[in-house]
Amino acid sequence: MKNDRIQQLKQLITEAKEFVIIPHENPDGDAMGSTLALFEFLQNKGKSVNLITPNDYPGFLKNLPHSEETINFEKSEEKAKKLIQNAEVIFTLDFNQLSRTKQIQQSLEQSTADFVMIDHHQEPTDYAKITFSETTASSTCELLYSIIDDLGESKNLTPEMAKCLYLGIMTDTGSFKFASTTSATHRTVAHLIDAGARPEEIHQQIFDNNSLNKLKIQAKALKNLEVIEEARTAFTFLSDEEMNSLQTEKGDTEGIVNMGLSIKGIRFAAFFKERKQEGLVKISLRSKGEFDVNKVARKYFEGGGHKNAAGGKSEKNLEETLDDFRNKVIAHYKNQLQ
Ligand code: 5GP
Ligand code: MN
Repeated sequence: MKNDRIQQLKQLITEAKEFVIIPHENPDGDAMGSTLALFEFLQNKGKSVNLITPNDYPGFLKNLPHSEETINFEKSEEKAKKLIQNAEVIFTLDFNQLSRTKQIQQSLEQSTADFVMIDHHQEPTDYAKITFSETTASSTCELLYSIIDDLGESKNLTPEMAKCLYLGIMTDTGSFKFASTTSATHRTVAHLIDAGARPEEIHQQIFDNNSLNKLKIQAKALKNLEVIEEARTAFTFLSDEEMNSLQTEKGDTEGIVNMGLSIKGIRFAAFFKERKQEGLVKISLRSKGEFDVNKVARKYFEGGGHKNAAGGKSEKNLEETLDDFRNKVIAHYKNQLQ
């Protein structure tokens, strides 16, 4: 029962003093929005709280409240490890398997803290003492708002917390257009606006904050776009050389995967980003309707995610990965597997 878990959570928050909050590797808007909102929520309760990200995150998320107080595990490993060791409660947000924290995983496995998971991805693992896993929630931010509300605390939402939560819901729903957007999502957003979130300002901060090089790298991806018409599939890619030809920042390739989905009739889109140094190709998958890209990511690309948005990787080189993808998509279509 959710009510029991809320009571358990209330007790943990009341009794413990030392808290750590962790989002997944390469944190996105939902991961940073939810962790920063929870950070302020716990701080306002007088708790000692630290937000540790596995690695760096995009510049367009750095003007969020408290962003400068976050600790990057990659940069401050010893300090972060000590904080994890001393934590009584560790919140993990926007993921449900510890491997999604990459280099932090080992420290988390060695920790004796009570874990609280707040997440909306499929198939949660069972590392947490309290698990809030709602796979139908549009975003972790929407779920976190409902938990804060169930704790009887929504009246204590500050404009800064409202901004963070609004941003996470907005980015994870593709600006309120994905199938995961419900009337509850809009009711939550309405409460957040009442609490001080300013939609125009947040949209501008995210979408009208591009560098010229970001648009140029997107142009390269647009040029590489390929359609497999019979399978209603579109995909694109960026090679290491293409990435290196422009000075880009983390987050500059975000949204490229959606280009293919905007073509009439396309229901499945993929984006392949070569990372030669790591010996892999990072893959983003998106779909419309019933086509389940979470299954595709799990079956072929050691990944996961949601029905309409997932990701994974390939250890083959870019050319082989693309050939493989073309063949699999066509075979899949011919067999009508789905
Ligand atoms: P993106 O394409 O934006 O990187 O990721 C889309 C979705 O897939 C996100 O919800 C993300 O959590 C999930 N995802 C991306 N990459 C991986 C991965 O390597 N493993 C798993 N399990 N999920 C992933
Ligand atoms: Mn999310």
